[in-house]
Amino acid sequence: MIAAVDIGGTQTKYGVMNNAGQFIPPFPKSFPTPGTGFVAKLNTLILEIRESFPLKAVGISIAANVGREGTVLHATNLSISTPVELGRTLSENLGIPVKIENDGNCAALAISRFAGISKKDTFVVLTLGTGVGGGIIYNGELMDSGIGAAAELGHIVVDPAGPLCGCGKHGCLEAFIGESALVARYNRNADQPLHAALEISKLLKSGDEDALAVARFAGEQLGRGMAIISDIIAPRSFYIAGGVAGLGMPFLTAAKESLSRQCFLRLLNRTPSVELVAEAHLLSLKGAWVLAS
Ligand SMILES: [Zn+2]
Repeated sequence: MIAAVDIGGTQTKYGVMNNAGQFIPPFPKSFPTPGTGFVAKLNTLILEIRESFPLKAVGISIAANVGREGTVLHATNLSISTPVELGRTLSENLGIPVKIENDGNCAALAISRFAGISKKDTFVVLTLGTGVGGGIIYNGELMDSGIGAAAELGHIVVDPAGPLCGCGKHGCLEAFIGESALVARYNRNADQPLHAALEISKLLKSGDEDALAVARFAGEQLGRGMAIISDIIAPRSFYIAGGVAGLGMPFLTAAKESLSRQCFLRLLNRTPSVELVAEAHLLSLKGAWVLAS
C-alpha cells in the first residue's frame, strides 16, 4: 500500500491507496495546511497511518518547485523561499521511499496513468485555481528539468500590457484567469461582491450576463495561453482541471474557439482537443500515488 499526500496552499489531502490505485476507506481525508512545521506534521501523519496500514512508499504532491531527491526549492503559498530537503528528511525518518513532485506534474502523471492514454502521447494539463499551474507529458514522459521549474504554464505572458502578476511580471495567464483575478473582474460591476469562482459558476446557471462575460473572457485568455504552448510542443490535447474549470461550457467553448483561431496547428487541421477533467480535486493526490508506485 502507498500513502499519497497532496499539499495545497490551503488544504492538504491524503489517503492510503492499494496497488490498483484505489483509495482504501475511510480515505481520502483532508486538513488545513499548517502555516509552519508541516514537515513534523507530515512525519506524524505518516507514522499514524503506518500503525494501521503496511506502507511500502509515500508519494507527495506539493504546490511548489521541487528539485531532485525531493528538495522543495520554492513555494510562495507555503512561505518557502529557501530549499527544504523534505523528501530526504521524511525518507530517513520513516525508513521507506518518499517521492515528491510539483502538483501540476502530479496531475499530468495521474491523467497519463488513469485516462487510458497511449504510452507515447503528448498532452498538457492546466490546473486553474487560486494559481494557474500545470504539467506536460511529452512523448509519454513528464517534462522535467530537474530544477522543478518546467511547465510554469500560469506565467506565460498572454499580454505584456496586462495586470501585474504575483511573480512580478505583467500579463501572465495567472494574472488574467487566476481565481482572484476573475472574481475581481466580476466584482467591477457587481452590487454584491463575490468571493470565489464557484459563485460565478452558480450565477452562470441562472443566466447572469456578467458571469457569462467573465466565463467567456477567461476562455479567450486561456485559449491564447494554450496557443502559445501548442506552438512549442504540438500536443494532442489539453486537460483542464481546478475550480475555474467549473465555469463550464461557456468557458470551454470560448477557450476552444480562441485556441483554434490562434494556434499554428490549425493549418494542419490538428488543433488540440480541450477537455474538462472529472473528479479533478483528487487528480494531484492520485498523481502522488503514481509517483510512488
Ligand atoms: Zn506570473
